[in-house]
Amino acid sequence: MTTAVREVSVFGDGIAYFNEASEFLKLDSGTRAILTHPSRQIIFSIPFQRDTGDFEVYTGYRVQYNFSRGPAKGGIRYHPGVTLDEVTALAFWMTWKCAVVDLPFGGGKGGVTCDPTQLSMNEIERITRRYAAELVEVVGPDKDVPAPDVNTTPQIMAWFMDTYSMHVRQNVAGVVTGKPLAIGGSRGRVEATGRGVTICALDQMAEMNMKPETARVAIQGFGNVGMYAAKLFAERGCKVVGISDVTGAYYNPAGIDIANAIAFVQEYHSLEGFRGGDKITNADLLTSQCDVLVPAALEKVLTAENAKNVNARLIVEGANGPTTPDAARIFREMGIEVIPDIMANAGGVTVSYFEWAQDRMGYFWKESEVNERLEDTLLTNFHQLRELAKRHNTTLRTAAYMLAIDRVVQALKLRGVYA
Ligand code: NAD
Repeated sequence: MTTAVREVSVFGDGIAYFNEASEFLKLDSGTRAILTHPSRQIIFSIPFQRDTGDFEVYTGYRVQYNFSRGPAKGGIRYHPGVTLDEVTALAFWMTWKCAVVDLPFGGGKGGVTCDPTQLSMNEIERITRRYAAELVEVVGPDKDVPAPDVNTTPQIMAWFMDTYSMHVRQNVAGVVTGKPLAIGGSRGRVEATGRGVTICALDQMAEMNMKPETARVAIQGFGNVGMYAAKLFAERGCKVVGISDVTGAYYNPAGIDIANAIAFVQEYHSLEGFRGGDKITNADLLTSQCDVLVPAALEKVLTAENAKNVNARLIVEGANGPTTPDAARIFREMGIEVIPDIMANAGGVTVSYFEWAQDRMGYFWKESEVNERLEDTLLTNFHQLRELAKRHNTTLRTAAYMLAIDRVVQALKLRGVYA
């Protein structure tokens, strides 16, 4: 991967992190080549009818990055910025995320380049059903199991599951995760990613002698990840001083009333007009006065340009790929600790794994059981990677990649390369 590509490509950011960990692991060039190429990239057209009766065509993607440890696993994103490069990067990260928390999955990701804010629910349903129909042969509980990501919801997962089930003429709940409870979803899935962010953050804060009661937290993004993270940080006694969504950011040094912010978003569907803090720009939120910063929106928001101005002592990556490699170097020099995305936001895929397992058993757990197993899975692996980081005097990110790559390589070596 050349430097020029790295500057513009999200996948290039991922490769840069991978290469750093590969050096520590002394990976041979053949293994590196296998692990830096996606197994399968699928691009297809999605013709659909607008409510006006007109037809339009969108582009759909599914990337199945690696199958060494099990079926591909990863969300579906609906966003105008979806590209093959982005979906490949996200599928690449899913491979390491599943491995870092030791789940029996490979990595995958999908998306449709569209702006859901300009679409009706009926239009989104038609796009989703066509998207699912295009993938019938290559997804399934033992092949590839999608889930929600940016702008996709439990309802969208229900349409995906229904379309797939109609095609194969049987009910297959385990083809997707993040479904509503009534059709095989898991208790605790909706808030699992935010819960995982908080579990990792509080554990690292204890390690750094930061007390929750005095910690100020700023969170970028108030969707599935950011909103539940905010709720759980507040419940654990932290002061959430900053929140934001695509419409703007709000800062209140006395702490934002998160229950109030959630009620506001539930009523008005965005933070636009929220009065629980001073309105600041999205850029200023990232450099605001806080102890813990949680980027939970999109990738590449912490860059060489703004990294030096970050005030937090700890960054917890709720989003995938929010920190560029240049920014990561600056944080290391500044002594800012970063819990990397593949660990910090692995709570979602962990409960997705629980959902998949429950669907296969046809037996569903209590929420307390889900949350207990989630905390155990995350902390067991987080402690292992923190030890690794100490032993090699490296960052939590490099240690997370080392742990994950080593697990994938073990599976790859045992299975061998069918050539
Ligand atoms: P979401 O669509 O529910 O929410 C995204 C939020 O980010 C919204 O509040 C949106 O307004 C906001 N946003 C978008 N652009 C912004 C900007 N420029 N500035 C500030 N806010 C902005 O999506 P989500 O599921 O919460 O996903 C957020 C991130 O977390 C993504 O990187 C996703 O890949 C990652 N992630 C999600 C899950 C999951 O289970 N949903 C799991 C792991 C990782």
